[in-house]
Amino acid sequence: MAVIADAVLEVLREVAESGRGLSRDLLAARLLDRREFACLRPSEAPPAGAAADLSARETARLEALQRQLETIRQHKEKLLVRVQELEHREAASSQFFRRTVGILAQQLGQLESPPLHGALDRLKQLALANAPILELETAFSDFKAALIRSQPDAPVSPAPRRDAAGQLLGRFLKSEKPEDVRPALETAFLNQFKEIAQSIIAELKLHLDRDYLQRVQAVEARLRQAESLEEALGTRQALIALVKDYAGHLSREREQAAAFIQEIGKRLGDMESLVFNSLSQAREAQRAHDGFRTGLETQFEALEGHVNFSSTLDELKQTVLSKLKTISGALAEQRRQDQRQLALVDGQMVGLEKEFDHLRGEIVTARQRAESLEAELLIDPLTGVYNRRAYEKRIGEEFQRFLRYGQAFAIVLFDVDYFKQINDRFGHAIGDRCLKEICLRLGPMLRECDFFCRFGGEEFILLLPATSPKAATAVAEKLRREIAATQFVCKDQTFTVTISFGVTAITAEDRDPLSLFNRVDQAMYTAKTQGRNRVAVL
Ligand code: GH3
Ligand code: MG
Ligand code: MG
Repeated sequence: MAVIADAVLEVLREVAESGRGLSRDLLAARLLDRREFACLRPSEAPPAGAAADLSARETARLEALQRQLETIRQHKEKLLVRVQELEHREAASSQFFRRTVGILAQQLGQLESPPLHGALDRLKQLALANAPILELETAFSDFKAALIRSQPDAPVSPAPRRDAAGQLLGRFLKSEKPEDVRPALETAFLNQFKEIAQSIIAELKLHLDRDYLQRVQAVEARLRQAESLEEALGTRQALIALVKDYAGHLSREREQAAAFIQEIGKRLGDMESLVFNSLSQAREAQRAHDGFRTGLETQFEALEGHVNFSSTLDELKQTVLSKLKTISGALAEQRRQDQRQLALVDGQMVGLEKEFDHLRGEIVTARQRAESLEAELLIDPLTGVYNRRAYEKRIGEEFQRFLRYGQAFAIVLFDVDYFKQINDRFGHAIGDRCLKEICLRLGPMLRECDFFCRFGGEEFILLLPATSPKAATAVAEKLRREIAATQFVCKDQTFTVTISFGVTAITAEDRDPLSLFNRVDQAMYTAKTQGRNRVAVL
């Protein structure tokens, strides 16, 4: 099997070197040409006559060939994988080469050698444009030739990086073995890395606070002590972590500063409204003032707590503390003004309260007087019963009560009979006393809810709520009898008085109090006309 594999490999190599495309027919023809596969040539076919064994041998051989072909196919797959690996490596090498060319071009960019510029520009353009490696190699050769022409034997000065790179390039170009250049190349990269890292560290030192300084110094020491590119690159992770933390720190600091400034704005706004409230509410100022001061002090404490949250906000802190001091002074002055104003207002308030008490007393007196006057206006001064004004008021109320609730009532109108004669016989004063006596006797005979008034002269009206005409007639009759049975005395004379009564009750037909009055007046007139001292109902 190894022999066959070697034969196949050799054939494949031959085909590859010949530059011809690999095909199955070509591979088969080359393999048949080889000694190892001579048995497979047509001339070596079994002679006729051995037909009986041919089939079995052919089958066995065919199987062997199939196995060989399978082996070859697998080997071909492996070779293809290998080719792909080589292509990747070639691509990586190409990329590294391009990068190296780019770096070298950058390093040599400042060389003051005009003849080199054209070749260098061409090299840079191709490197940037990702040109085919062959073009890049050609351009690099041109550049190499130009460089050699421009600096054939130039001495190398040790200090500047640009000259060191020139030295490096010179050695690189003159050397036939790349291994000779590697240490110098590594040193150049190491120095370049150190320089970049150092510039980052210097930048960080300018901005970072004490917490970060120790970490920065540790990285810096590691970097300074690094003698190989690997050691220097080892510090890269620490440096990246440091920069990342710094970026996060900046972000947090910005957020905290924004929140801090927002908080200050809110608290200053709160303080402003507290001041405004304390000025606008003079009477409540003393109580509000305590709350105001407590709230203010709390806010100051909170504010001062906030300004201590980060040492990197020193400047902002100083500004805010200064503003707080100013505000504190202004508020203290405000408080003193509040107290003076409050004392003034309190004095005024004491006077106002006295005035208010006095006014309140006067109002009570006035109301009582008004009520008294109101009562007097409704009372008949001679008899002490209600007067006609009171009747007008009461009849309106009863009428509305009837319309709204259907609560009926009776009305009784009575008039002293021949009263003129009494006056004429005993004098007007006795006539007055007569009227008073009638009221004194009849008043107590009525219910509490009944209304009794002097309508005028010697005429009186009764309003009897929830009373039927019949019941009202009975009441009138009782009253009539009472007066008729009374003996009035004047000096040594006695006399009797009679009264005529008209009675009626409200009906659905009554549209106003007047119609009711007219009817009861009619009834009373009937009683008069029928002989007086009687009760008539309508
Ligand atoms: P009649 O039976 O028809 O009612 O006869 P009368 O005399 O009572 O009726 P008339 O209307 O003719 O007279 C009423 C009198 O009542 C006339 C008036 O001087 C008297 N009078 C009216 N008011 C008062 C009063 O307040 N005091 C006194 N003393 N008399 C009064
Ligand atoms: Mg009369
Ligand atoms: Mg009369």
